[in-house]
Amino acid sequence: MIIAHNLGFPRIGRDRELKFALEDYWGGKLERSALEDCGRTLRHEHWQQQAEAGLDLLPVGDFHWYDQVLTQSLMLGAIPERFADAGEPDLDTLFHLARGTHPHKEGTFACEMTKWFDTNYHYLVPELHIEQTFSLQWTQLFDEVAEAQALGYRVKPVVIGPLTWLWLGKIKGADFDRLQLLERLLPVYQSILQRLAEQGIDWVQIDEPILALDLPSDWKAAFESSYSQLQRAPVKLLLATYFDSLDDNLGLACSLPVAGLHADLVRAPEQLPLLLDRLPAYKVLSLGVVNGRNVWRCDLEHALQLLTSAAERCEQLWVAPSCSLLHSPVNLGRESELDAELRSWLAFAEQKLQEVTLLAQALRTPDRSDVQQALADSVAVQQARTTSARVHNSTVAKRLQALTPEHSVRATPFTERAALQQEKLQLPLLPTTTIGSFPQTSHIRQQRKAWRQGKLDDASYNNAMRAEIAQVIAEQETLGLDVLVHGEAERNDMVEYFGEQLEGYAFTRFGWVQSYGSRCVKPPIIVGDVSRPQAMTVAWTRYAQSLSGKPVKGMLTGPVTLLMWSFPREDVSRETSALQLALAVRDEVVDLEAAGIGIIQIDEPAFREGLPLRRTAQPHYLDWAARAFRLSASGVDDRTQIHTHMCYSEFNDTLDAIAAMDADVITIETSRSDMQLLDAFADFAYPNAIGPGVYDIHSPRVPSQADMVKLLNKAQRVIPLERLWVNPDCGLKTRNWPETRAALQAMVTAARQLRSKH
Ligand code: GLN
Ligand code: ZN
Repeated sequence: MIIAHNLGFPRIGRDRELKFALEDYWGGKLERSALEDCGRTLRHEHWQQQAEAGLDLLPVGDFHWYDQVLTQSLMLGAIPERFADAGEPDLDTLFHLARGTHPHKEGTFACEMTKWFDTNYHYLVPELHIEQTFSLQWTQLFDEVAEAQALGYRVKPVVIGPLTWLWLGKIKGADFDRLQLLERLLPVYQSILQRLAEQGIDWVQIDEPILALDLPSDWKAAFESSYSQLQRAPVKLLLATYFDSLDDNLGLACSLPVAGLHADLVRAPEQLPLLLDRLPAYKVLSLGVVNGRNVWRCDLEHALQLLTSAAERCEQLWVAPSCSLLHSPVNLGRESELDAELRSWLAFAEQKLQEVTLLAQALRTPDRSDVQQALADSVAVQQARTTSARVHNSTVAKRLQALTPEHSVRATPFTERAALQQEKLQLPLLPTTTIGSFPQTSHIRQQRKAWRQGKLDDASYNNAMRAEIAQVIAEQETLGLDVLVHGEAERNDMVEYFGEQLEGYAFTRFGWVQSYGSRCVKPPIIVGDVSRPQAMTVAWTRYAQSLSGKPVKGMLTGPVTLLMWSFPREDVSRETSALQLALAVRDEVVDLEAAGIGIIQIDEPAFREGLPLRRTAQPHYLDWAARAFRLSASGVDDRTQIHTHMCYSEFNDTLDAIAAMDADVITIETSRSDMQLLDAFADFAYPNAIGPGVYDIHSPRVPSQADMVKLLNKAQRVIPLERLWVNPDCGLKTRNWPETRAALQAMVTAARQLRSKH
């Protein structure tokens, strides 16, 4: 018995309809009923598409107004106390939690948001307190099941499992063991399953992706006890795992009293033999063989090999994407600006469905001519990619091969470099600087749009951007900052801007993927070997430097971030792509130095994002990621100062690697944690210079000089003054000019105040 199914479909819509409807609704421009209509239309379209593609079992419960974890929290009645008086839970309550709004209270804060495993999707963190109770409150899932059934579809509801939901939650108030809540949580899950059974549901997909993590033993034990309890419900459970190998949880996952198990064979194909060995033959094995997280067409032949070997051993085999298709763009059909060859290599969510059904068909009727044809096409695509000149560039390959360890180390150690740099730069104690971008005004965006549309010629656009740079330099001179920047007016996005100038990249027009709520990102695609045909930033930076006697810091995006915020290749390792990107950035760094730029910042905000989920795989990643950064940064003279910047709030597990990057100066986001983060750097005895952000640029609030003096005093207690820089948390592109001026003025004065005491 072969079944083709899907774990989840993107809900944002082919044309991001949900995004626009949500934003209009929040902005008061759309009635609630119209928003609900939009959601219903999308669900209907998505079921229809999936049914037409030939799936046997369609997911329901993958449509979410904001986020799947938030919906699950509401369903369980886990509504934070501060929203308890926001009225009967309804759609608006959900938006209140997500956006920090409240019908009759000012200053209510939203639920915290954080990354969903190792993806770029953000979920809303459940808030757990010791007195937490649960009750079934939110009927969206049941309503949507009924809706799909009324349309005649055979559906499989999807819920986030109790252990994963708890694991993702964060304790608020008095500390306690989250597992204590299970006892109160499981009865609600039982009611959910009971109610689905009453709706005539046969199979329920229960997502437990934490089974792909290193779990403490009490959590493993909790899986056993929880699922023994849940198995009493009169439905069959498909336990879904994804994003990594089950590894040491494989035995546990196979033995839980559920009717089926889904495993990710894209991330971890090596787990198949063990799965076949350990999973009882009467259980369903669902294999995720089509990558739900990338844009490449599936190698059907390879996938079929895996499936065939499984089909020999198990009676009930299901075929699926590796994970929910939430993480893929939706519709390739409209990418008319991609050339035919490249398009033939790609598969977005809609195409992935076809791959899944084709594979199921190939198992059922291998000799059918359409199956044969599709397999032959797939082989041809793989072949074309393997030999294509747009993928393989022998010059790049040779450069990589010729790399020696010396390429990725600075010639002398930090302390000596620092002295030489100081001799050259003559910076005051506590030098002040910014992270790179200055306000991206609507004027700047209008100019760029006009230029892209061909309404503004190159020369005029150039002049407009130069005028912006001149203004930013003048502003910084007036403010009295010590190290200036050119302001990044010419950049739309810190990855796209570079990607567009590098060989080996491609861009889609509609390849949007949900990032959180109504927000989507459109990552570029790394198609082949990456190289830099010509300088990317030198002219702008040189121009900026020509306007000031103070050092202007060159501004680049680092290799790891360029990789993490793009769709990667699947034919080479991430490491290889990172090193290629590093060489491209290195060339730019060297050119900037030759153009007289003495300080160069290589941003790596996504450095931690690439960290593998499994601890055993982390050292290798951190090793190559730090090496890629150093490779990009080490082509310069000792006297050239390299900065880097990172902005996320967890450094603890990566400090070794951050130190190994050996940047002369690192600027980090810490103001929101009240400099707590800096303690980690201090405890670790981080050796190089640090600029802990002294104010939060995400907030329109202008910080006072006193606020910043306080933070600097804190910083000074843990980092020697000689290694301390003064700067905001992150780039200023989302702020306006009055806020920016006021905040930076206060920052410069704060630095001067402290400086004068030494
Ligand atoms: N240099 C970039 C800026 O200032 C850094 C952005 C980031 O850290 N995400 O905008
Ligand atoms: Zn930042």
